[in-house]
Amino acid sequence: MKDPYLHPKADVLKTLSADRQHGLSQAEAENRLAQNGPNQLEKAKTIPAWQQLLHSLKEPLMIILFIAVGLGALSAWYDFAVTKDHAHAMASVYEAIAILLLIMVNAGLSFWQARAAQKSMAALQSMAAHHALVLRDDDWQEIPADQLVPGDILKVHTGDFIEADVRWLHVAELTTNESHLTGESEPVAKQTHSLIEETGLGDRTNMGYSGATVTHGNGIGVVVATGMQTELGQIAQLLAAEKPGKTPLAKSVERLSKRLMLVALFVVILTLGLELYKAVITTGWSFAAIAEALSTAIALAVAAIPDAMPAVLAIVLTIGANQLARHQGLIKSLNAVETLGATSFIASDKTGTLTQNQMTVTDFWVNGQYYHVEGSGLEASGEIFPEGDYHDFIQAAVLNNEAEVRVDADDELQAYGNPTDVALVVLGQKAGILRGDQPVDILRVLPFDSTRKMMSVVIKQGIQYHVLTKGAPDVIQQRLAQPSDELPDVVLHFASQALRTIAVSQREITEALARHGSVTELERHLDLLGIAGIIDPPRPEVKKSVATLHQAGVAVVMITGDHAATARAIALKLGIVSNPKASVIEGATLDGMDDQALFDLVPSIRIYARVTPAHKQRIIKALQQHDQIVAMTGDGINDAPALKAADIGIAMGINGTEVTKDAADLILLDDRFTTIEHSVEAGRTIFANIKNFMRHELTTNVAEVLALLLGVALMTQQVGHVPATTPVLSALMVLWVNMVSDALPSFALGYDVPEADLMSQPPRNVHQSILHGMLGRIALRGIVMGGVVYLAFLWAAQVGMNPAEAQTVAFLTLVFGQLWHVFDARSTRTLFHRNPFENGKLLIAVAFAAVASLLVTVMPFFNMVMGTAPLSNGLYLAVVVLPAIPTLVISGIKVLWLRRS
Ligand code: ADP
Ligand code: MG
Repeated sequence: MKDPYLHPKADVLKTLSADRQHGLSQAEAENRLAQNGPNQLEKAKTIPAWQQLLHSLKEPLMIILFIAVGLGALSAWYDFAVTKDHAHAMASVYEAIAILLLIMVNAGLSFWQARAAQKSMAALQSMAAHHALVLRDDDWQEIPADQLVPGDILKVHTGDFIEADVRWLHVAELTTNESHLTGESEPVAKQTHSLIEETGLGDRTNMGYSGATVTHGNGIGVVVATGMQTELGQIAQLLAAEKPGKTPLAKSVERLSKRLMLVALFVVILTLGLELYKAVITTGWSFAAIAEALSTAIALAVAAIPDAMPAVLAIVLTIGANQLARHQGLIKSLNAVETLGATSFIASDKTGTLTQNQMTVTDFWVNGQYYHVEGSGLEASGEIFPEGDYHDFIQAAVLNNEAEVRVDADDELQAYGNPTDVALVVLGQKAGILRGDQPVDILRVLPFDSTRKMMSVVIKQGIQYHVLTKGAPDVIQQRLAQPSDELPDVVLHFASQALRTIAVSQREITEALARHGSVTELERHLDLLGIAGIIDPPRPEVKKSVATLHQAGVAVVMITGDHAATARAIALKLGIVSNPKASVIEGATLDGMDDQALFDLVPSIRIYARVTPAHKQRIIKALQQHDQIVAMTGDGINDAPALKAADIGIAMGINGTEVTKDAADLILLDDRFTTIEHSVEAGRTIFANIKNFMRHELTTNVAEVLALLLGVALMTQQVGHVPATTPVLSALMVLWVNMVSDALPSFALGYDVPEADLMSQPPRNVHQSILHGMLGRIALRGIVMGGVVYLAFLWAAQVGMNPAEAQTVAFLTLVFGQLWHVFDARSTRTLFHRNPFENGKLLIAVAFAAVASLLVTVMPFFNMVMGTAPLSNGLYLAVVVLPAIPTLVISGIKVLWLRRS
């Protein structure tokens, strides 16, 4: 149907063959889905796999390898054609093939990891997909939003996205924000009557549009268009396929890689010059000499470039994101994983996150008398004593209320609606006052929102009209016809017992006011009926989480709409503050404070009470000016801007609105504060693992480059049977080290468990380079390892081994030096500080690398290709065990030194 806003509801429903009472049948909905396609905007195609594969071949290391293959082919041809040295020619051919194979393996690996990372992020993101509430087969059900079809009856509440274009059938104080289509940021009030003339989008008050948010109230509408048929779909061009954004960490690692590449280039050119010079003086110009020099230079380039770094980074971050998901924390970008580890302030809502959100009225006050209520949970049994006249108070609390307690299919009591309201319904049941039994009509509902902190209904009883208003007592106090002298004392009395307080009030009004009065006109000149004290017990596990975070140097701040005294009492119970007189800043105080004053105060405050979502943004900003990394939780629609402003926006998976989930970086699937603590720990673990990996990777790179360089610079003449032009390691040995014996254990470091003191360190400073504090360590260990490898080579030459044997000694010394060192790299201190058996994957990787590296020295094929040679048993033992000495000695010295200071 064209322009459904011009037609009455009934006509729209008829045209769409829709049923307002029962909804579509599931079968019909599936039919329509097949016909109309899913309710989503079409995306441009993603990059095809072969292009990604090609892309990974353009990496600098790959290019160097390709050059090496070319050189190998060239020298093979030269040997076949000119020198007729067929054995040497075949060796060159095998070398070229081996390098080609490595290129393929490397390209395949990096391609595979990129795909895997993309896939698992996509899977995580789809867990955060939008949902919609529709009527189907006579039943309201949550379905994935992309399953919506025209004719569906859709229900929305405050904080939802409207997931398709709808014609409203029923609205209750419904306003929506359509700024994405109209540019108008003020919410628009909606109604259900048909319009009589054609209007622009922004004035079609009986329509809801896909992508709009519900800012207030609720509504039911019939879906008239989905997917690309919606107004949003009409104007949206194809959405560009989302490029996986690079995280700051990835960027800084990339910068580092580039810098290292420059160093490598310099070293390579230097080596090439030196080698050629040496060749010229010893043997004169020859093709073989030039090829040899080039081959050494290539070995150096391969050694110096930390090729695995970006791949490992992506893998480690993805592993972290997946682990977190298993712990009920849904991360929406890799970015967030790394920021989490640096979090220094966590600002959390109280209700539901720090507390159980299982509210029970335990006390109330009516007309100068305190009453006590027994019973717990949703059970309707429980005495109220003493006896007294509290009927009007409880009746108003039950009527001004949309919550319900029902017996579900399993015969269990089930609560629906706002937990505060549920508590009042249960109180009503204990007093025998049920909403359905009251002889009144409810005309209007003005829902609760956390800025106003009140909720009202307009009722008609006989010929009288009343407004019933309940809300935060201090807010109600200001709306009373006659402010109550007792109210402040009553509130303090309840709040100091950690009870949440709600004041209930009412007023008789005229019919005109009842029908058309605005919220402000209705919620004033009220008479106080009574005040309820509601208990909301803290979650038992939170206290431990708070303590852990404090130890980790992370401040925990409570932000609540609740009363200051209630907030403080709960904060004390949870250990957020330890001083019973800890200061609490209230929203009203914040309003009277300029940004400078707030800036000065904010580091020391742990409790904010009676705040509105707008205050959250100011608090975040002030903390961020102190260079703090702020994580902030939120659940209501008004929290979305604060979640965006925070470094880590956290939304509640269960009680959160769709809009906040959309704005968040982290979704707590279980709404629990403890999940935040786990997330911080996971973020730190990931960062620590990346650091460990870098520490190892760079140390070994320094060692390889140094060993080769020392050979080039110091071996100026033949030693024993080893000519001066023989590199300490052959190009393929260096490749092997980089891609097998070094790469596998490095990857395993990404899976490591956290170090024991991870959560007793302060948060990391995000301005520091990832290498901060590691450079000295990398240099020392790299230089020692490289020196030892060169000395081993020199020794082997001096005792009369042939070039291949000397290179093999150097090769195995390097391999085992690294395999020992990897256990040292896993600790921020030394290898003596960690249990080496914690990381099973690492043990397997090390064992595999060790055995494989030994095998390639005895298998004839590898002897030919890599230039390795078998050694004697005693020598094998020496190259396996002795390389442990430098690591053990340096670590031992460090232990002594750490003890002393
Ligand atoms: P928080 O989530 O931080 O506990 P809320 O914004 O939910 O704070 O509530 C703030 C105050 O608003 C509460 O202390 C209570 O007095 C009042 N309030 C909460 N829920 C309701 C409700 N459903 N109806 C009326 N007043 C409410
Ligand atoms: Mg709340």
